[in-house]
Amino acid sequence: MNDTDQSSPRCWICLGEGDEVPPLGTKADAHDWIHPCACSLVAHRKCLLNWISNLDLQERRQGNGIAPRPANEGVFFNFPFAAPLVGVPLLGESQSIIVNCPQCKKQIFLKSSSGSLLNMRKVFQDCVSTLTRVTVISTLVSSTVASYALGMTAGCSASGMKILQTLAPNSVQLSLFDVRNTPSVIGAIDRGRLPMARFLLVTAAIPPYLYLLRKPFIPAMQEAFVQLFPFLFLTDGTSLLESGPKRNLLFIAPLKFVYGVLYKVTLNRVYYRWARSVQPCFIADGLSAETLEIIERENEEEFEIQQEDEEERIKLENSLQKTRNSLVILLKRFLHYLVPSDRIRQIRISRLKRELECCFKTDFGLLFSKPRFYYNIATTLAWPVLGEYASRELLAKIPFVVGLINRHVSTPDEATFLRNLAGCFAVVIASDLVSLFFAWRKVKQLQNIRVLKYGTKEWREASSNSITTDLTLMDRGNM
Ligand SMILES: [Zn+2]
Ligand SMILES: [Zn+2]
Repeated sequence: MNDTDQSSPRCWICLGEGDEVPPLGTKADAHDWIHPCACSLVAHRKCLLNWISNLDLQERRQGNGIAPRPANEGVFFNFPFAAPLVGVPLLGESQSIIVNCPQCKKQIFLKSSSGSLLNMRKVFQDCVSTLTRVTVISTLVSSTVASYALGMTAGCSASGMKILQTLAPNSVQLSLFDVRNTPSVIGAIDRGRLPMARFLLVTAAIPPYLYLLRKPFIPAMQEAFVQLFPFLFLTDGTSLLESGPKRNLLFIAPLKFVYGVLYKVTLNRVYYRWARSVQPCFIADGLSAETLEIIERENEEEFEIQQEDEEERIKLENSLQKTRNSLVILLKRFLHYLVPSDRIRQIRISRLKRELECCFKTDFGLLFSKPRFYYNIATTLAWPVLGEYASRELLAKIPFVVGLINRHVSTPDEATFLRNLAGCFAVVIASDLVSLFFAWRKVKQLQNIRVLKYGTKEWREASSNSITTDLTLMDRGNM
């Protein structure tokens, strides 16, 4: 949007004018002017958003990392320019932000699109979280006679058994516990063929195992637990490789590792780039200050690299001006892209190195969907159910998959077990793609934050709304 009030606007933040590219911006940003309030200040949209983001980051740093945020905080935050008290909230349910103009102290309104799909998802997640929390807590309270630890173990063990029953047919369960000639695992315990302690240990380990299995970034101790889990099924004198179902379990951890690496070099890189394409403050909630620093530093370095890239491009264009033949020009451009100069190659390599380094250290996917403990518990418990469903309704109908599985098993039950494990893996891929979709929606929302133009209908609406909100806040304060 060009501001036509002035012949040549000058940005009050970066002091740039005309074609000058604002800091950390692109050529398009150079002509994206805004006039957000009654006074004469005009700025690049990019600069204003960066300026707000910096205010927020400063305040977060002073607050020693992430400032605690009240849950369900209302639609807006209003922080005075001189002493910001609260930061910019994560845009989700809240769609507008208000800051004060540094010159005239009047309000500046920022607005994002409503993101109804994102809101629906959030409502769904909230409901699932609450339901799970209530269920878990009430189970714990009712089941604990002696202690919470005991209740927890019993709860984990019961869920673990349920997961096992979902994924493994009866004969596979028996073979996993090395009991034969009994109708069921529970029957084996009753007859004293399977020690209760061993049963509890194994089944109680299943839910935490599944919980950790889905996470690409976990501490070394937890990673060790995931790697060692199959060895819980080890009994005296037998090898894990002898029994088919146990052998299957041995392959899960390496598969997790491979998928983790794949995630880091593909999806996580997408998230990383998306994270850098929006102002840090909008995705800052629930993030460590360290990650924020990384993103900020990355953006600065990336901007320098971009400028060097641009310089090289201009050099090329200048050299091309001497050539008349368009075919030669095309060829030279192509060659320039294919066989870049040493400088460009250096830039590309260092960029790739930096990107990969970041993507192996931090899960940028978390920026777009905040991890929630109880929601994660619910999805962990739903995972095997969905996996079994995918296995039955999808994988079982693909002859190639069925053939592949049958080559590696000795009984139909073992085939079902292996297919169910594959179904769980398919669910992981599907859920990662769904997360990617929602993250993309979120990024679109955050990239399209508009600064309302002073005096427009929208601006007047926002302005009258903010006055009523101010009054309600005051009322609350007096109570
Ligand atoms: Zn500017
Ligand atoms: Zn102003």
